[in-house]
Amino acid sequence: MKSTVAVALACSIGLVFGPVASADLMPAFKPISYDVRLTPDFATGVLSGVEYLRFQSLSDGLDVLSFTANPLAVNATLDGLAGVTVTTEGNRRIFHLPRRLANGEVATLVMSFAGRPRRDVVFTPDEIHTDYFTCEAMICDVDRPGDRATLQLALTLPTGMDAVAPGEFVSREPAGSGLETWRWREDRPYPSYLYGFAAGRYARAELGPSLGVLYSGETPERVQTMFANTAHMVAFYESKAGMKLPESHYTQVLVDHNGNQEDASLSMIEKGPAEHVLSDPRADGMIAHELAHQWWGNLLTCSDWKEIWLNEGMAGFMTAAYKERQWDRAAYDHEIAVAQKAWDAAKKSGLDEPLSWSGTYPSLRDERRIAYGKSMIFLDTLRTELGDDAFWRGVRRYTQANAGRSVTAKDLQKAFEAASGRDLSTIFQNWVYGN
Ligand SMILES: [Zn+2]
Repeated sequence: MKSTVAVALACSIGLVFGPVASADLMPAFKPISYDVRLTPDFATGVLSGVEYLRFQSLSDGLDVLSFTANPLAVNATLDGLAGVTVTTEGNRRIFHLPRRLANGEVATLVMSFAGRPRRDVVFTPDEIHTDYFTCEAMICDVDRPGDRATLQLALTLPTGMDAVAPGEFVSREPAGSGLETWRWREDRPYPSYLYGFAAGRYARAELGPSLGVLYSGETPERVQTMFANTAHMVAFYESKAGMKLPESHYTQVLVDHNGNQEDASLSMIEKGPAEHVLSDPRADGMIAHELAHQWWGNLLTCSDWKEIWLNEGMAGFMTAAYKERQWDRAAYDHEIAVAQKAWDAAKKSGLDEPLSWSGTYPSLRDERRIAYGKSMIFLDTLRTELGDDAFWRGVRRYTQANAGRSVTAKDLQKAFEAASGRDLSTIFQNWVYGN
């Protein structure tokens, strides 16, 4: 991944554009909290666990809950009541409840499961880490980024491993037979796709009081060099967001394979792109991109995947802006040129759609050319159109006004209009909504 195209097209999140459940299977409920307790068996590759999902019914007579299907075999009860039937229909896992719930009623689905996760979960004798498909390791719905819930996660691991998971570390206690149980809690509600974790025989590097790296097969010196600019990136994003790093700490996990992926309070960073920093300190775009998601993507998340450009366009643009501050204007221009190239390819193939287009692209590559490429050009155009003062006021306003919320393009428009005092409906119509 030497090319900066890889930087502009970071994150494996675009994998979501697969088949979606039919409307009648879409859940009429919202998750409130996940309490997930996992035991990975590193000798057999089997992951077992228990999950307590507290949720609220959003319709009268709710008797079916639907989630992303995964390879785990599941048994479930509802508030201690047996009789929950579990079926798989296409790419959905369906729970048929033993009684109907009233609108507004809160209940807890208790699920015990075991199996071998396949999709995008790295599970070797020495390591387990998720990638984008966190719903391979718990029961959740990857198709609903607008659903936010809190998390308590417990991992029971062989003694001597290190681990990281979303939120605050709570405790680490012996669990018998050479095992110990680690616990974390994330009290800020996030979409479930951000609930990734990593555990393995890692070493730990500290980049500062709140910044860490988990790694293996590397020297501490090389790791310090790869991630040397993380604190500068945090300071830059904090200044532009007008908000501190959303979590009290941030951990980067250096992984051998699978994509770069942001999670709540942590990110997976591929070794390949990180190693480029050793020979070229300016090649820190991937590290900057995933960190930017802590604000734009995590703290503010697109309410629907059709607006994923709000996550990826902002992360890509903020990476370019960081590079302008850290390096020079040429570094910014280069990132914009790479995005322009992606958008040009979309135009050439006749797939230049509005940013918030709700249709289905023929391929992930086509989707990314718009969501990662055109989106950055749009933000660069807005910056030129509004001028730096109003543009950066708009970014700050958008971030502060929507922190902890799921957003749509209208929220971005509103923030830039308020910051500039201008009606931006025409430019948003042309670039974002289409006719
Ligand atoms: Zn990204």
